[in-house]
Amino acid sequence: MTVVRSNKQTAAATATAKAGAARWVGFDMDECLGSFMPIWPFCEVLPNEANLGPEDKRAWLRRLAETLASRRELWLFRPGLDLLLDMLRSAKERKAIAGCFILTNNGSWEIAEVVRHILNIRSGDAGLFVAAWHRYTPCRRKTGSILTKDLTTVQACLRTSGLPTLHRASDLLFYDDYADHVLADEIPHYTTVSAYTHYTPIALVYKELKPAIDRFGFPRAVVQEVLTQAEKYEDRDLKTDKTLRVYSPPASMDAAEFTEALGRFLSTPVLTAARKQPNGTATRLTRRTGTTTQGRTAKTARRRRLSKN
Ligand SMILES: [Mg+2]
Repeated sequence: MTVVRSNKQTAAATATAKAGAARWVGFDMDECLGSFMPIWPFCEVLPNEANLGPEDKRAWLRRLAETLASRRELWLFRPGLDLLLDMLRSAKERKAIAGCFILTNNGSWEIAEVVRHILNIRSGDAGLFVAAWHRYTPCRRKTGSILTKDLTTVQACLRTSGLPTLHRASDLLFYDDYADHVLADEIPHYTTVSAYTHYTPIALVYKELKPAIDRFGFPRAVVQEVLTQAEKYEDRDLKTDKTLRVYSPPASMDAAEFTEALGRFLSTPVLTAARKQPNGTATRLTRRTGTTTQGRTAKTARRRRLSKN
């Protein structure tokens, strides 16, 4: 399963779109929302090694999300996100956006789902993040490269998930720590954020999860084997990837780069009936629609700056 969404959530998103706000806020996952590889052994390896069936696995992932949602001191998520989640929930409540989604090139649907659940729990709206599309999600396979992030992919994912698609390019705000996706040249509200490279050791994550793991009834030998293997990989990764900052206090609790972009996005007028074409059709969504020359120039300059760093 790649997209988990209840009928109730789809109905809510569709109703919002009918009310005139088919606008979406999308997020890259790794180093954008947070740093999640330390939860990989518990999301993917442990349930697979314990041979959990689909129902049990889903129950475990939900338990995992519920446990981690309150463990802010692990700094898996970027600090300051709670303010952004409040703003997003409020925007959805007043129908300024249809909702949010994750579009990640991470290959683990389990991690993406756990992250999505946690964001919904922390926002107080179980339907705020409607989907988490990962590298192998079927709707991405139909659109060429599975690693491409572009408007075609977003529209295909929304459509195949039964969600309202975008009317124009400026109806999407997308956050990513990587500046050079195709999407960056297609939408005016592509927002490149600083990469969050904080890393939490697996042993610390396990310490917080141990009571939940024990209660769920995972065999101790399996847990021990998963931990041993995961920490071996962790040692190797930490030696080879010098960008990771291991469990130090986050440099900033500020998420202003997110909240300011959301403020600009929400101040963009929505497409209304009065702005439709004379023949009654909405403005066609094209590759360049909504992207001003000024916006492109600014983004190009920003990417050049980033590439120098
Ligand atoms: Mg990223």
